[in-house]
Amino acid sequence: MVIKSDGEAPHVEDRTHPSSNDDKNRIKYGELVILGNNGSLPQGDKGRRRSKLVLFKRAVPNGIKKSKHYVVKTPHASQAILDSTQHSISYTLSRNHAIIVEYMPDEDTDMFQIGRSSEPPIDFVVMDTIPGDKCCDGKVMASTISRFACRILADRSNPKVSRIYAAGFDSSRNIFLGEKATKWQEGHDIDGLTTNGVLIMHPQGSFCGGDAQTGIWKEVSVGGGVYTLRESRSAQQKGKAVEGASNILQDGTLIDLCGATLLWRSAEGLAKSPTREYLESLVDKVNAERPTCPVGLNTLVIPRKSNNDSEKQPYVYLNCGHVQGLHDWGVEKGTNSRTCSMCFKTGPIVKLSMGIEPAFYVDAGPPVFFAFNPCGHIATEKTVKYWANVPIPHGTSAFDSFCPFCATPLEGHPGYVIDNLGTFIKVAKEQNHSFDIFSARKFFREVVN
Ligand SMILES: [Zn+2]
Ligand SMILES: [Zn+2]
Repeated sequence: MVIKSDGEAPHVEDRTHPSSNDDKNRIKYGELVILGNNGSLPQGDKGRRRSKLVLFKRAVPNGIKKSKHYVVKTPHASQAILDSTQHSISYTLSRNHAIIVEYMPDEDTDMFQIGRSSEPPIDFVVMDTIPGDKCCDGKVMASTISRFACRILADRSNPKVSRIYAAGFDSSRNIFLGEKATKWQEGHDIDGLTTNGVLIMHPQGSFCGGDAQTGIWKEVSVGGGVYTLRESRSAQQKGKAVEGASNILQDGTLIDLCGATLLWRSAEGLAKSPTREYLESLVDKVNAERPTCPVGLNTLVIPRKSNNDSEKQPYVYLNCGHVQGLHDWGVEKGTNSRTCSMCFKTGPIVKLSMGIEPAFYVDAGPPVFFAFNPCGHIATEKTVKYWANVPIPHGTSAFDSFCPFCATPLEGHPGYVIDNLGTFIKVAKEQNHSFDIFSARKFFREVVN
């Protein structure tokens, strides 16, 4: 483990040595994985900007807990705000009326902060996700992610308990909720929401195993309360408190920061999930069967990365799921539309590539692949079916299901196709000879239809 000069903290996993002995001996709380990245950021992982953060128990606790609160007239001039070693949250109620909540060190918790800012208090720098596995091309985009978006407090004595809160402390260890921010007082307590809010969704049932159902999106407050969604993302009126709902992250909880969505995987859940090595062995296994294009008769090879332009690149026909190489047969001039040589259905084609980020898998099923429509990322049947049913916040009040590997919104119903590459190999093996296009058509009429 190397501590880099750009402020990479020692709790951040060095991905060049993902299974170093150092990490094996550390207690792990879980992982936060940004949806839309297939194993690494498009421009590569670097320092605190990466596709996922592994949360390990810290050598020295850095958690905090509420100590006292009081009313002030001018929050910016108050002692707690000026003292940059003192964590505090300031709730401005009106021009001359603010409540300051002071926090003190808590030996029992570790804190991890997430946001767009690259300032030192942010452990995990998260930028807006661009769908389609693409780089931002140096374009400056207006971001909707807060610089200090949220914080997680992990229980050091019970590593299964990690809680999420909206807003993070800045370099002066302050959180300011201005006059316009939604806030409320209940008895002695004061609480509030951030501008674009932090939304969470706990799956119903166990994420691992693939039988979980999507849960209901809710909003978490600065104080860790859980509320129904506001009418639109940054509406003034808060939602209703949800009885019995908790801000404790569970395996598979989604966290939406308005511009990027994170998946929480518990250490326990990850231990039951496939590893990247296992997923790569599945690809190798399929490739070892030497799948053949029925038209070009050339061998196809599923790449581990989608930016592969070799002639061995398999393509999936999105209307039927048949897999072939790139060839001219059935091309409709000037379109991406082609007629499938095996079933004569016409539709778009896309490069087939492997979903290689293991955290998104809900099971470690056999190498029978399903492909997301329209991006062509393949994963196990249960994984593809799970994500096709998860609505993810998009814009101010819309929800879309998308491919977790590249964040491309899914098209059509059900949002995926059954990748018939597996069937193709099986048929080829049973017949024990290579295909010509006519026998391929005949077999598929018999076997598939
Ligand atoms: Zn077809
Ligand atoms: Zn995809």
